[in-house]
Parts: sequence; C-alpha cells; structure tokens
Amino acid sequence: MGVEFIYPEFEVIRNEARCIACRVCERQCANEVHAYSEARGLMISDESKCVNCQRCVSLCPTRALKIVKSDCVLRENANWQNDTIREIYKQASSGGVLLSSMGNPKPLPVYWDKILINASQVTNPPIDPLREPMETKVFLGKKPEKIHRNADGNLDCALPPQIELSMPVMFSAMSYGSISYNAHASLARAASALGILYNTGEGGLHEDFYRYGPHTIVQVASGRFGVHEDYLEAGAAIEIKMGQGAKPGIGGHLPGAKIVGDVSRTRMIPEGTDAISPAPHHDIYSIEDLRQLVYSLKEATAYRKPVIVKVAAVHNIAAIASGIARSGADIIAIDGFRGGTGAAPTRIRDNVGIPIELALAAVDQRLRDEGIRNNVSLVVGGSIRCASDVVKAIALGADACYIATAAVLALGCHLCRTCHTGKCNWGIATQQPDLVKRLNPDIGSERLINLMTAWRHEIMELMGGMGINSIEALRGNRLMLRGVGLNEKELEILGISHAGE
Ligand code: SF4
Ligand code: SF4
Repeated sequence: MGVEFIYPEFEVIRNEARCIACRVCERQCANEVHAYSEARGLMISDESKCVNCQRCVSLCPTRALKIVKSDCVLRENANWQNDTIREIYKQASSGGVLLSSMGNPKPLPVYWDKILINASQVTNPPIDPLREPMETKVFLGKKPEKIHRNADGNLDCALPPQIELSMPVMFSAMSYGSISYNAHASLARAASALGILYNTGEGGLHEDFYRYGPHTIVQVASGRFGVHEDYLEAGAAIEIKMGQGAKPGIGGHLPGAKIVGDVSRTRMIPEGTDAISPAPHHDIYSIEDLRQLVYSLKEATAYRKPVIVKVAAVHNIAAIASGIARSGADIIAIDGFRGGTGAAPTRIRDNVGIPIELALAAVDQRLRDEGIRNNVSLVVGGSIRCASDVVKAIALGADACYIATAAVLALGCHLCRTCHTGKCNWGIATQQPDLVKRLNPDIGSERLINLMTAWRHEIMELMGGMGINSIEALRGNRLMLRGVGLNEKELEILGISHAGE
C-alpha cells in the first residue's frame, strides 16, 4: 500500500442470503475480483480491481451481486475533485502518461440535445411511413455540378465511383487488434445483411473477412499496417485516416501484448511488437501531398473506388475540409471530440478537438460558400447515439453518419472504459481467446441488425413528421432545426434559428 492509498472506486455488494457460491462470478471476471474462500466457505471480493463492467452482475444466476460507486470520498472540494486527485496519485506512483478508453466523459455541451426537430401541422402535411414510400437510401461520392448530355442528346449517367447505403449510417473504424475477431465478424456480417458498410480501422483485413469486401471500407493509416494490393482491392472504398476525434494530433498505439497470432499476421508485423502509428503520415505535409496519396490509391484500384479522407474535428476544420475537397477525395469523414477509442492519452481525449455538431455545420457552410459542396460527401461521427442524432446531423448537412460506440453497446459493451487493458469481459476489446469466445457473432450481428432496423424506422418516422420523404430532401435542410438554450454565436455557427423564431 502506497502513501496515496484511497478507498476503491467501486464496491462489490454481495447479498449473502442469495449467494449460492456457484463461482460464476469468479470464472467470469478477468480482473480476478472474486474468489472462493475455502476457510470461510463463502465468496470474497477484492474490489480494488473492479472496473464496473457489470459482467458478474449480469450473469449471477441468483441476482446476488451489485456494483456501486463507493460513497467513501475525500473531503468535498469543487476545485480538487476526487478523480483529479486519483489521477495525481496514479501518476506520482507510475511516472506515466494516463491512458483512457472510449469517448470523452466530461460534461461538455452535447449540441444534439439542444437542437429540436420540426414537424408538419395543417399545411405541408406529414407523411405516414407505414403507408407511403420513404427513401432512406444514400449514395456517397462526388456528384456532378450539372446534367450532361452525350452527343446523341441522351443523359450522360456515368458518375464517379459511389458507395450505396440502404440507410445513412455506417460502422466506424475499429481495428482488428483493438477489437476481437468475433466483434469484427459481427460488424462485417451485419453490414452485409443491412446493405451498409463497416470499416477495418488501421489493423488490416483478416483473410476470413475478404468475402464481406463489398460492404467494407479498408483504412490506410500512418502506420500502413496490413496495407497491400489485395487489401485495397477488397474494399468498397478506401479511407485515409489523418486523424481521430478521440486523439487529434497523435498517432495510435496497440501494445505488443495484443499483437499475437492472426493480429500480427493481418497487420504484417512480428508478434509482440508494439504497433505504433506515427502522428503524421510521413509522406503528407500539405494538401498537395495528400492529393498524391489520394491519387496513388485511386490509381492502384483503377479509379473504381471512392477515397475517403478522415480527420478529427479541430479548430479550423472548415478550412481543412476545403483543402481536402480539392485534394481529389470523394468523401470527407469528420470525427468529433466525443468519439470513442480503444486507447488514448487521457489529457488528449478530454481536452483536444471540438464538438462534431459545430464542425459539421461549419464545414457544410464553407463548402457551399465555395461552391464545392458537390465535390465531396460528408460523413460525421463522434458520439452519434440514436436515430434523432442521425436526423439532426443530416439536416445540418451530413450525407451519412459513422457509429462505433453505439455499435459496441449493441454487442454487449457496458462502457466500463477499460478497453486499453485488453481484458474486456464482454469479448469485444480483447484478444484473449477465453474472453473472445464470449461474444457469439451470430448473436452479435443479429443485435446490430436489430439496432439499425430500429433506427431506420425511427428515421422514417421523424422524416415523415416533417413531411419529408427522402434523406436527399432532408440533407442540409436546417430550416427543420431549432436551437434551445444556445447563445447567438452557437446559433450562428450551427446556422439555425432559436426555438420560437
Ligand atoms: S470487473 Fe466486472 S466482472 Fe469483475 S467484479 Fe467488477 S463488475 Fe464484476
Ligand atoms: S468494449 Fe469492453 S472493455 Fe471496452 S468499454 Fe466496453 S465493456 Fe468495457
């Protein structure tokens, strides 16, 4: 025990009258919290190791367990909060950078919750999505500025390469290595069944998943792990990852302990080596350099696949997006500061970047002002939590949304935010075979399909209420949005009026 000892953050409450000492909790907890005491003839707990993942609570057959946040706290202090003091103790003993997982948990504004959606009344009547046609299909990629006719007067229907989605939602980048084989299998299968796309992240594509290629976005990140000709050919689109919402300005790091077996083969790096992606792409220092990579990837795939450039939402995102739109990219993906991650330095995750709502509104407006909005499609992510967030994002100007945290929640994640430890008790953010097998891809993909089916129905209901029957008609339709409790500057950036106006 160090000088800094403080009471554990969580308490394990075991109802002794209900506990039958079946030891399920002991077998299910990879953090070794529970144990059976032969001497005392009962279960005991070392709650200092508990991360509150709720696995034991969910599987206890007699509902004997509860995990509660400890009410044993340091003396109240509005400036020096308990979490801050814990972090200082941790760094004082380790000397290391603090690491965190999942998205920024700080109470910063969530603009989606301060934006309300319109509904038709009396005139311009609502549409009943159960009885009338409603189009949720979208196509991502460059669109022509005007209609062209060929020499014999017929319409020229040839378009640059497009991604077709049955609804405006895709599964965002999560690498094989940061998430398990079974989590990847669930995402790939669900994307195929739904007619949408999932994203390999920067870890390459396991050979078993090549068959899902038409529903796969293959990512090219600064580490270039697992990137080769067949990989590029396999995907429906190629994404250049310049940045990520949870950690703008820095690269990635998958510890050597997770680079085992198939993960090492797929990434094309030796087992046990840390997979470190540099902060910059070492061949990109300007929009011209980015253009070279965009066209190299197009050239490598015979100009048949759209190229996405993914960036984190940062202060001058509108100017950055304008440059990307001129680089030849077909799609810009912007990741807001609440976006999730398998691991990021805590200070970066919690303090760098800007909300996706403001970034999206600023980028869409800038591209319109410059007359280049049709040059690119816009995909946004960074804590899209539900169908109404999707509808608001489309109305603010997005063509589609990326989701990741919502997808892993559907797979059973309980947001304990300890993915970086590699001991995910739900079989998602782990490579430990005994934990991976806890996630059944048949069930996982079915749950993802259910989630997306539910969202699609809700999107149609919300659009119907507005009297709008297609995503195309909703896109950039900011008249359908009103702000509540926002100041004038926020309303100006979002390009919406206040409720009551
Ligand atoms: S870490 Fe999870 S499984 Fe282990 S005791 Fe805590 S809640 Fe239960
Ligand atoms: S993926 Fe697993 S480790 Fe990560 S937050 Fe969810 S339950 Fe916890």
